[in-house]
Amino acid sequence: TTYVFAFTEGDKDQKDLLGGKGANLAEMMKLGIPVPPGFTITTEACRAYLAKGAAPETLEVQVTTALRQMESEMGKRLGDPVNPLLLSVRSGAKFSMPGMMETVLNIGLNDDTVEGLATRSGNPRFAWDSYRRLIQMFGKTVQDIEGDHFSDALEAAKDKRGLTLDTELDVDALKDLVDDYKQIVERETGAPFPQDPREQMDAAIEAVFRSWNTDRAKIYRRRERIPHDLGTAVNVQAMVFGNMGDRSGTGVCFTRDPSTGHTGVYGDYLVNAQGEDVVAGIRNTLSLDALAELDRKSYDELMENLRVLETHYRDMCDIEFTVEEGKLWLLQTRVGKRTASAAFRIARQLVDERLITRDEAIGRVNGEQLTQLLFPQFDDEADKVTLTKGMAASPGASVGEIVFNNAQAVERTNAGADVILVRRETNPDDLEGMVVASGILTARGGKTSHAAVVARGMGRCCVVGAEELYVDESSQTVTIRGSDVILKAGDIIAIDGTSGYVYKGDVPVVPSPVSIYIEEGLEAGLAAAQDEPTKDLVASVDLLLQHADSRARLTVRANAEAPEDVIRARKFGATGIGLCRTEHMFLGDRRQLIEQVILAENEEEQQAAFDVLGPLQKGDFVEILRAMDGLPTTIRLVDPPLHEFLPDLTDLSVRIAVKEALGENVPDKERKLFKAVREMHEQNPMLGLRGVRLGLKIRGLFAMQITAIAEAAADLIEQGGDPKPEIMVPLVGSVRELQIIRGDAEEIIAEIEKSRGVTLDIEIGAMIELPRAAITADSLTEESDFFSFGTNDLTQTAWGFSRDDVEAEFFNEYFDLGVFGVSPFESIDVRGVGKLVAIGMRNARSVKPDIKVGVCGEHGGDPQSIHFFHEVGLDYVSCSPFRVPVARLEAGRAAV
Ligand code: PEP
Ligand code: MG
Repeated sequence: TTYVFAFTEGDKDQKDLLGGKGANLAEMMKLGIPVPPGFTITTEACRAYLAKGAAPETLEVQVTTALRQMESEMGKRLGDPVNPLLLSVRSGAKFSMPGMMETVLNIGLNDDTVEGLATRSGNPRFAWDSYRRLIQMFGKTVQDIEGDHFSDALEAAKDKRGLTLDTELDVDALKDLVDDYKQIVERETGAPFPQDPREQMDAAIEAVFRSWNTDRAKIYRRRERIPHDLGTAVNVQAMVFGNMGDRSGTGVCFTRDPSTGHTGVYGDYLVNAQGEDVVAGIRNTLSLDALAELDRKSYDELMENLRVLETHYRDMCDIEFTVEEGKLWLLQTRVGKRTASAAFRIARQLVDERLITRDEAIGRVNGEQLTQLLFPQFDDEADKVTLTKGMAASPGASVGEIVFNNAQAVERTNAGADVILVRRETNPDDLEGMVVASGILTARGGKTSHAAVVARGMGRCCVVGAEELYVDESSQTVTIRGSDVILKAGDIIAIDGTSGYVYKGDVPVVPSPVSIYIEEGLEAGLAAAQDEPTKDLVASVDLLLQHADSRARLTVRANAEAPEDVIRARKFGATGIGLCRTEHMFLGDRRQLIEQVILAENEEEQQAAFDVLGPLQKGDFVEILRAMDGLPTTIRLVDPPLHEFLPDLTDLSVRIAVKEALGENVPDKERKLFKAVREMHEQNPMLGLRGVRLGLKIRGLFAMQITAIAEAAADLIEQGGDPKPEIMVPLVGSVRELQIIRGDAEEIIAEIEKSRGVTLDIEIGAMIELPRAAITADSLTEESDFFSFGTNDLTQTAWGFSRDDVEAEFFNEYFDLGVFGVSPFESIDVRGVGKLVAIGMRNARSVKPDIKVGVCGEHGGDPQSIHFFHEVGLDYVSCSPFRVPVARLEAGRAAV
């Protein structure tokens, strides 16, 4: 097996094998961009390592060959005391993944080679600075030594000499620091710092492999639905040096602003520094304009390369670069992560610039991003107490309690609080807290710092670099420099990830202009936008959503029954109601009536209850059908298990027992109720008397509903309306069940047509919620005008998972054990439940090729599932009103 590829061998489409970083490095090589040479160890090698707990022997051999090639290319050798080659080792999975070991730089330095580097470069300070960095990074990431040991020693070295900046430490100070660091390593690991460069390199490679399975990495993968079995690649690259002096430096930049989407290159630069200084936010960075002044040649070359990359990838790219004594090197690139609003604006810009088509543009945004844009924002009009201002790193408006670390964040969140994680700066260890926090605030770091990058990736509101803040975790306080404000853990603050402002106390939030656009149209959305970038955003969403609508084959309906939800769904662009759950109409006052139906001892009693319920139901349907005038409205006959309408058996028996114990009178009615509830009690109500079974047992119940639907439609037709009700029968397993209900329905509808003198065109169809229904959909088709997959119950019955219980009980173990990466109740289980959907489709269409088929389970609003439903040829998805815009976008994306 080939485990090692030189950068000259791969290309950008080999992300599975080479990881994102490795594939893009290879691509840059192909483009002739100045990239230091190196090689990539494949994800396959990582998987082999993780399976066996040791690297395959052939890997070591292949690494040797690749290394020797690099050595001859560079004219330097690893471990050569005169002219040493130094290496960086970086992880690089298929999907960029914070939480994994990132980088070890300067591998190859030891007590001998450091002297060689000093002499050869004529810059001893640089050589010793590189050596102390190696020990620090290696100790921390490869040997798992607490990073504070090193940073404390560094601080002490500066304090002792009265210095503030790392760059002010001279050679002697750095030599002392190296000694201190070596002692730390020996103390913490029981062995001296490894002097053998090859040993350093191999250990770093293994550490990357192992970091695939850290808790942080697992948390991130679960959140992002990244499979646990991909493994990571490792990139070994020749070092170039940004810390050689004032003519050197390192930076990160984007071809457009990843936060707002503004056109124009955007980035941070640090003079006399190495890569991790920028990302860690240790020193505050300069803008790229400053680089233009310092070193015009490197700046121009950088701009030219950025243009080459953006033209080649036809997308916003992010780049890490280093200038070594006036020579520019690009160390990595990728299609850059961006905020939701940047994604929409950039996609539209690229269309305007004729770099991509509109079809491609809708592939550059997704439903999750659109969801984020629908979030509310702080009310401009509200009174606010400004504490300070930082950099707007990831948009949103977040209010919460201050917490200082992961443990507090998790504890307070579990207690139901919204929290804002406040830190000096963040690093991968803080991931757990960042995941649960509703906002993140840091005192240090730029827009490309860890906190900013990770928060943007997660869609978390984030403000970074609020330099006036002094965060002291040990005393659990934040102070604002130059003021007497002291905030403690638990105090409420509000942060605005769009402006960078930090406010004291609660601040009210208002709807976002994008949500106003969705609800009220383009003009209203533009009017609600208070500045040009926001107007541009609204226009961008409009362009892409319109295009998605024009391409989508799946139409989008909504699951709604409350009239205000129905109205909202229509405004959000729903083209019908795919599921109106009628049982929700039997709660409140009406519950007693339904109780009476169930407990009735004779037909008269039952009919009496129906006589009251019927007109009420009709009123419900009139409202809904009126709101949906002209659009199909699927009304599902009552579905849930009986016990949902009856008092709880235990409550009831306790109540009676208490009364008896107190010698109180227990009314007859209560005893009768108790007896009936006990008789009807089911061990598995979800598999019990519900859906069509209930309809067949209490025939009048469905009849009452069907009458109400037909009467409502007749009323509206008389008023000049165009109602389009569809009657849906839940939990059908056999064609006979459907036949009987259909017979009843047709009779009722015909009678009402006659008595009212109208023609009613009411379709009747079945829900497919049971494996048997999917498998026998061909025979069900004989009695159905349409189908709708109820994937909630279909998932429950296909897996045998109780939908109300399992997620709480054991899904976490199932995620960890890799049974599935995401709950099958959230995203369709393509291989199992999805197969039943596909079988059902095939069966149904074999009998009626044009039969209309949709889905109305939760999956109808889930992006991944929507793509699947498109593939299998469904006609529509139905989801909650708030998901409708997301589903519209995804339906369009699925079609291009
Ligand atoms: C379903 O089962 O997928 C469905 C839509 O019905 P309910 O969630 O009401 O059971
Ligand atoms: Mg169901």
